[in-house]
Amino acid sequence: MSFPASAPVLPDVRRVLAVFAHPDDVDFGCAGTIAGWVDEGIEVAYLIVTRGNSGGFDDTPREEMPVLREAEQRAAAAVVGVHRVDFLDGHPDGLLTAGPELRRDIAAAIRRFRPDRVLTSSPLRRWEHLTGPSHPDHLAVGEATTCAVYPDARNRFAFPELLAEGLAPWVVRELWYAGGPAPDHAVDITARVDRKIAAMRAHRSQTAHLDVESWVHDLLGRIAADAGLPAGRLAEAFTVLRTE
Ligand SMILES: [Zn+2]
Repeated sequence: MSFPASAPVLPDVRRVLAVFAHPDDVDFGCAGTIAGWVDEGIEVAYLIVTRGNSGGFDDTPREEMPVLREAEQRAAAAVVGVHRVDFLDGHPDGLLTAGPELRRDIAAAIRRFRPDRVLTSSPLRRWEHLTGPSHPDHLAVGEATTCAVYPDARNRFAFPELLAEGLAPWVVRELWYAGGPAPDHAVDITARVDRKIAAMRAHRSQTAHLDVESWVHDLLGRIAADAGLPAGRLAEAFTVLRTE
């Protein structure tokens, strides 16, 4: 199972909502691309499903982890020019499922922010790479977000309590997936790599052990080369689908 070929990117996007499972997911996969959208004048908001209390490599007391990681994500967002960062409550880190509660909460966020484009993690597992992008929480958020884009956010009869809260139906026109199999839409982020590295370093509890600069240059250089970009370029890669 894989994605179809990416659609041409919409030219008239004003708002983007990025939906990810954990603090740091958006920055590992997409911070350079998001910095570019912000530079273009697009308004970007983040919806983070958990505060990542099951992650981390250091001996930070577990009860401090959610507060620490929320602050890290807000700092990383500020580096790329994103100032609206919302966190969901009640969804357990490590045990996310694409059930009705998560679909409703993401649909509510879509109706509230009214994005033209939604960016999320791939709901398709990469069988050749069972860690990282294929974390079950990433797959669950990708699936729940896909269901929230269609049909939940646009169907007035889905989750009628949202309409009662004043959240009118909304049609997202474009969906970007990060971390999936065979992504075919590469974004050259060479000019913005410093902001990507700074955003990743803001997640100190997750990246203090990592040589972030080498990691970024190795992976994003490989992605750029695979996409046929000239030597020395750096890229992030996605699958882009139309959802009108
Ligand atoms: Zn994650």
